[in-house]
Amino acid sequence: MPIYEYECIACEKQYQSLIMRKEDEKGLNCPRCGSRKKRRLISRVAYHVSEQDRLDGFKASDAKDDAFFRDSRNIGLAAKKRARQLGVDLGQGFEEKLDRLRSDPGSVVKDSE
Ligand SMILES: [Zn+2]
Repeated sequence: MPIYEYECIACEKQYQSLIMRKEDEKGLNCPRCGSRKKRRLISRVAYHVSEQDRLDGFKASDAKDDAFFRDSRNIGLAAKKRARQLGVDLGQGFEEKLDRLRSDPGSVVKDSE
């Protein structure tokens, strides 16, 4: 779903809104001053990127900086990409383990001991 970022022209407050239809945007008010005058910003943030996009953009051969590895959403991308290339279905168990690894890395380590 498209989430857009706006800046209020009256007070410069920046805010985001989910826009389903063009009319939604017209009626959008600034949460601080209520003004409808706004401009849409180009979204600078990456967190709306779907996992599919991340997989498509991911290359195992690229050098990754620390920020890449600190982002837990990137955990397991290499394995998934490889499996997809090989046509391997990793199955539900893998997805679940990956979810846990991303949210609570300690739990998975404990399980495999
Ligand atoms: Zn405002």
